[in-house]
Amino acid sequence: MHPQLEEQIKKIQTQLEKADIEDARWEARYIIASLLQIELGELSSYTKDLTAQQEESLQKVVAKRCRHFPLDKIFGSRGFYKFDFVVSEDVLSPRPDTEILVEAALEEIQSRPCQKILDLGTGSGCIILSLLAECPHLRGVAIDASVSALEIAQKNASKLGLTQQVKFLHSSWFDEGCVNLWGKDFDIIVSNPPYIPSADILSLTEEVKAHDPHLALDGGKDGLKDYRQIALKAYEALQKGGKIFLEVGIGQAQEVVRIFEKQKFHLCEIRKDYGGIERCIILKK
Ligand code: GLN
Repeated sequence: MHPQLEEQIKKIQTQLEKADIEDARWEARYIIASLLQIELGELSSYTKDLTAQQEESLQKVVAKRCRHFPLDKIFGSRGFYKFDFVVSEDVLSPRPDTEILVEAALEEIQSRPCQKILDLGTGSGCIILSLLAECPHLRGVAIDASVSALEIAQKNASKLGLTQQVKFLHSSWFDEGCVNLWGKDFDIIVSNPPYIPSADILSLTEEVKAHDPHLALDGGKDGLKDYRQIALKAYEALQKGGKIFLEVGIGQAQEVVRIFEKQKFHLCEIRKDYGGIERCIILKK
């Protein structure tokens, strides 16, 4: 590797380690590659010296990261499923575990004729937009209670060329009458609602508690407040045979199933995430 680059990587690695950042070596490499707009694998063959301006930007990024700004929110973009999504502090950073929900919903969409999908609490839009991008015949409605989150989701829709396939609605769950606006014939509902019990928010990492919107995290006293609200109206919004795919937090699966069974849903499946935690619940009307 170019000696100046190797020296920079080591210097940044040390700074990050001092700030208690895990994977400091990988992050140092990632930060430099991102600023140079090259792939990680291209670092070893990069031969140019860094300009003074590049070094300055590098130090600004490193200073932010040392204050535990999440990397994706520093660079404004995050890879999720097969695509890159614009992110900001107005949206929850897409998590790899949520890809489980995307894959499960995709299997369903590809196994029977599905035309309409509803995403409750769309945030960056990562779930519904990944599905729409995979299924050009599918049409979607994406709801969020945050106007600034919807702006990010809209940006992502246009970046992925999906604006004709999706409509956005500013609403807290079903409050703004999405069922009256768009009918009761959704084939699929997807949702990653806030599910962290309020009192647990303070014990989350700095990256999450200071940079993900609390509106997208805080699920009330027991973390299940939003599932109860969703369950009240979701049944009505679905076609007969339609399914809802829900992300849940650690240890919440059984209770969330009970909440939906009380509203006439039938459990189809619970899927585990990459860490073996029950993460995605699939229920049928
Ligand atoms: N999975 C997120 C976390 O662990 C929380 C997402 C949510 O509340 N929907 O921070």
